[in-house]
Amino acid sequence: MIEMKNVTKKYPNGVVATNGISVNIKQGEFVYVVGPSGAGKSTFIKLMYREEKATSGQIFVNGIDLATLKDKKVPFLRRQLGVVFQDFKLLPRLNVYENIAFALEVIEEKPEEIRRRVMEVLELVGLKHKARMFPNELSGGEQQRVSIARSIVNVPKVVIADEPTGNLDPETSWEIMNLFEEINARGTTIVMATHNREIVNTIRRRVIAIEGGLIVRDEHGGDYGYDI
Ligand code: ADP
Repeated sequence: MIEMKNVTKKYPNGVVATNGISVNIKQGEFVYVVGPSGAGKSTFIKLMYREEKATSGQIFVNGIDLATLKDKKVPFLRRQLGVVFQDFKLLPRLNVYENIAFALEVIEEKPEEIRRRVMEVLELVGLKHKARMFPNELSGGEQQRVSIARSIVNVPKVVIADEPTGNLDPETSWEIMNLFEEINARGTTIVMATHNREIVNTIRRRVIAIEGGLIVRDEHGGDYGYDI
């Protein structure tokens, strides 16, 4: 479902962030992407949702060839993916309900269907009672729950997350991980860049370690493996 072949990303400043990476991620997998800062993790993740374009090599997501995908078709790709960020990226002027509904309104879903689906994901993340609150009225963990709800409201096949627990305390991080586990148990593929050693070493899943733009380890049930 996600396939990379010899993917190199060279930024305009000459930095080679991924250097000929090849990887295959199957439907339903849960994959951690680990490695030191500057290793190329974010770039690897951004290439999957075409936030960055590969300089060379091939990337297929759900059968879509990202190299030949026209810029105006990128929204079509994004509708099939959920993306979760470290800093949540909620729209500050929209309330919780609206932040999630927005993802469905842009694809012109029917109002009653939007309502049904937003309430369903709010129930899943345990925030039905805060539907009318604004992002700045919520804790960091609650904001991340909203952003997870938003990421899955389109029922994507894959959720891509870049350091989703990076701004959260340990207890809240575990709650967020439980949510990702639940989403994965429903069949959704999860690809998550993380620095959270404790989580990686406890919830054992596939670990892809990146260093200097290369995959240096790819292990099912692997550990975090770094001292930093
Ligand atoms: P990580 O997520 O592992 O910290 P990144 O993918 O963010 O790594 O960065 C990999 C390398 O690419 C670093 O050397 C970083 O400075 C560089 N880099 C990242 N984004 C850009 C950019 N937009 N322009 C130029 N260099 C970048």
